[in-house]
Amino acid sequence: MDFTLELMNKIEEARKIAIKHPSLAFEMSKEAYDIARMHELRQGEAYALFVMALACRSMTKLNDCYNYAYDAFKKYEMMDDPTGLAAALNLIGIVYYYNAMYEAAIEHFLKALHLLKETDDYITLSRLYNNMGEVYREVGNLDDALISYSKGLDLSEKYNYTTNMAVILENIGEVYFLKADYSYSFECYKKSYDILVKAKDVTALAEVENRMGKIYFIQQQYDKARACYNHALAQLEEIENKYFTIDVLINMAELEKIENEELFLSYLIKAIEYGEEINARKKLSQIYKMINQFYEKKGDFELALEFYKRFHMVEQEIETAVVSQKLEIIKIELSKLLGGEEVEKIVKLNKQLEQEIAHQNKLLEGMEKANRNLRLEVLSDELTNIPNRRGVKSHLALAWKQSEEKPFNAALLMIDIDYFKRYNDYYGHLEGDVCIKRIADTLKSVFGNRNGIIGRYGGEEYVCFIKDSEFKDVLELSEFIRSAVEKLDMKYLWDETWYPITISIGGIYGCSSHFDNMTDLFSIADEELYKAKNEGRNKIFLRDINMKEAFIK
Ligand code: GH3
Ligand code: MG
Ligand code: MG
Repeated sequence: MDFTLELMNKIEEARKIAIKHPSLAFEMSKEAYDIARMHELRQGEAYALFVMALACRSMTKLNDCYNYAYDAFKKYEMMDDPTGLAAALNLIGIVYYYNAMYEAAIEHFLKALHLLKETDDYITLSRLYNNMGEVYREVGNLDDALISYSKGLDLSEKYNYTTNMAVILENIGEVYFLKADYSYSFECYKKSYDILVKAKDVTALAEVENRMGKIYFIQQQYDKARACYNHALAQLEEIENKYFTIDVLINMAELEKIENEELFLSYLIKAIEYGEEINARKKLSQIYKMINQFYEKKGDFELALEFYKRFHMVEQEIETAVVSQKLEIIKIELSKLLGGEEVEKIVKLNKQLEQEIAHQNKLLEGMEKANRNLRLEVLSDELTNIPNRRGVKSHLALAWKQSEEKPFNAALLMIDIDYFKRYNDYYGHLEGDVCIKRIADTLKSVFGNRNGIIGRYGGEEYVCFIKDSEFKDVLELSEFIRSAVEKLDMKYLWDETWYPITISIGGIYGCSSHFDNMTDLFSIADEELYKAKNEGRNKIFLRDINMKEAFIK
């Protein structure tokens, strides 16, 4: 008997540290589980499995959490222990909730609720109500969320479960925040705050303080907001909680956006660093969107586009991850039922699986389409189907970002059709367009699969960027391009003579580390183009930044 008690105490110890030290808690409960199994102590087995699931939840190993919670459930079922069953169902429901399977989550919470009716396990009951509130809030059903929360809060108050009270009060505050009732929201946060101060729960405290700051911000009490954020940040950094630190940094950035753009960006960049470290995809997506909107407002579409692409990519990742996680859970569910007699449930799960797969396919289709449109509309030139100015510049922006780590040799060529106005005047604008398109095709095929990009810079001008190249190769390529266009032999009549269409090329070659920014490249290439035109056109001027100028033909 003593031995059993000792074992249960050990598991209880593990449960207490499951949130703060989950891997240790897991080890402890696993050890206890092995011992319980050896001695056929069913109660110990079940409880140990439950704590293992709890630890896995804290480590966000949701599949494992599900597995252990399910096994715990089965053991409690044999013992007909409603409290244990409800606790296991609660955890399973949480896994569903995390995987955005809200109906299944609610279903499990309700089952647990039913089981607890005859018991006095009010603490699990109040947690269940809180969890149900979370699901309702997540799906936007704020009224039901409030009903659940307040039931949970009543119980916590009645039995003096202070931590639960603080958590639920914060959640209620969040609902009122969503309802834009900021004064009531603030009241709830403040109550939660007061409880947490007493309980000395630093993480939760900082989270609530951050939320209070946000309300001050909305009410334009910027100094108070700043004070809340700073205090929350200092506390979180001390305990190295990156997850919540990101939230605070986002709010701080928002606060500084109007007055101090530099600071705005630097907070967000720090938040990105943390987000990438802990792979907080939802937060990253939010940050990228903020920066995208910031640049869009400023009219810097290149950077806006860059961050839009990042935003889109993370969003895709989130969607795909959620769906595959859902499928994974359903698969585990099925495997648990294998050999069992619950045929009906298997049929139901199978249907669900099919639905999810169909949903995922639709999702993928939509994403692919969105991606295609994004490329076509934003980065590509309609007439020639080669990248437009934005496409070229965003390609270069990325290359430049890479060059900070690893400089490279590169060339930028500006290519302009000679006397194009005469061609247009002779044939008309439509034929002129055909000419622009044919030259684009020629440029593209001569450029081939070299490292770099060729695009239409505007009007009858093209731009070509060649990465990791030797000077002589660039010169050779330029000459290929020039002669290929001349050989198209698109003749126009001017001043009683037939002339073939030609192009002039001005370029700059050098190591990326020589240029502060891309604008330098463009302006030097332009200068060289000007020289080529002045020297009679159909010529190439290529400046080597390291050496003297080269000029051919
Ligand atoms: P230069 O050798 O100095 O470059 O002479 P140019 O005639 O090519 O230069 P200019 O800048 O005087 O004229 C450019 C012409 O290109 C004028 C404009 O009508 C024509 N153009 C610009 N964009 C388009 C277009 O999209 N389609 C057509 N058909 N013509 C265009
Ligand atoms: Mg021109
Ligand atoms: Mg021209």
